[in-house]
Amino acid sequence: MHTDAGPRPDRRDHGALRAALAAASEDTVVYDLDGIGRQYVALCAELPGVAVRFAMKACSVDEVLGRLAALGSGFDAASPQEIAQALRTGVSPDRIHYGNTIKSDRNIAEAYRLGVRDFATDSLEDVAAIAEHAPGARVFCRLATTGDGALWGLSRKFGCSPEDALRVLDAARGSGLVPSGLSVHVGSQQMTTEAWAAAVESLADVLEELNWFGIVPNQVNLGGGLPALGMLDRRGRPLEPPLDKMFAVIREGMERLRAVNAAPLDFLLEPGRHLVADHGAIRAHVARLSSRHQLDGTHEDWLFLSCGKFNGLYEMDQLQYRLEFPTHPGGQFVDAVVAGPTCDSDDGYAQDGGLVRVPRAVASGDPVWIHSCGAYAAAYATRGFNGFAPLPYTCVGGSEGDRG
Ligand SMILES: *Cc1c(COP(=O)(O)O)cnc(C)c1O
Repeated sequence: MHTDAGPRPDRRDHGALRAALAAASEDTVVYDLDGIGRQYVALCAELPGVAVRFAMKACSVDEVLGRLAALGSGFDAASPQEIAQALRTGVSPDRIHYGNTIKSDRNIAEAYRLGVRDFATDSLEDVAAIAEHAPGARVFCRLATTGDGALWGLSRKFGCSPEDALRVLDAARGSGLVPSGLSVHVGSQQMTTEAWAAAVESLADVLEELNWFGIVPNQVNLGGGLPALGMLDRRGRPLEPPLDKMFAVIREGMERLRAVNAAPLDFLLEPGRHLVADHGAIRAHVARLSSRHQLDGTHEDWLFLSCGKFNGLYEMDQLQYRLEFPTHPGGQFVDAVVAGPTCDSDDGYAQDGGLVRVPRAVASGDPVWIHSCGAYAAAYATRGFNGFAPLPYTCVGGSEGDRG
């Protein structure tokens, strides 16, 4: 059973983040290292005994990785470059795994040279390549999931069927690799507990089959998908994922899987979004609030920001980030379509109804705070599409105020 041990850190304290946003006079991304640290500690308290491997792609900022490493986290890396960056935090290679099922021969050899011995896989071709370029390594097979219930289902491209998983781990055993376990990913920003329950069922079935064939894994990797709390859906409604219920389902699931397997199981988790999203924010500014008529005669207000899909808000066509206009707390509002500064019509919030209340008095240059964009936002910035360069970043809560 899960019990509370001592006072729980308040992962919703955003004081330091707000102070840094207020202090910024130019556009910047702010990461609150203490907030991320509290989020990590709170997650470990919810799922005792689970080893966390932060999915680096969600926020590959050195200071963030360093803070997580110092707290005991390891890393889920997707390329030799990410492995090298993870190693620079000082963690030993046994806390890093290669979680990407897609890798070339050269990628595998380089990861092996860097000391990584745990590899995700989902095909016979990949297993053969790992056996050749990372002899003796441990492999865990990723099971496909439907992705149902997630904002970004990661189905089809990753993972294999239960039958394939058997073949893949059997081939691993036959080629001198260690068939160490199974993994899943329920889809990013998963909103339902049912998806977690279904993942557990599928893991249990495959574990049972594997045991039957004399393959007894010692680890299960539950992947990512845990939600952020502060983002809005495409129409601007709070997402409100049932986080506490998810944790309960995961704890029960671990009990169930332990009961199925003939040997003790270690559990891993690869959260990305959940650890960083709500502890990062952008200070941007208003480019223009303008008012126009469309061809069909309808009138629309448009709020153009200095920051959009290509320089910090990559996911803005699938969700809304909460906006705050610190210099206009009250007054009259208009309902506007929100968009970024580039000449690309994808560079905006979904244009099918998700209007945002914007103070009528905002002027070009006024600051805008964009909340809960610590994950998959700045990490996806282009090299400067239309000349809009990636934003600089600031970290607060570090020993010094680091600047990148
Ligand atoms: C992206 C990714 C994650 C993190 O997913 P989140 O939804 O951000 O938690 C975890 N594992 C793998 C293999 C991934 O590709």
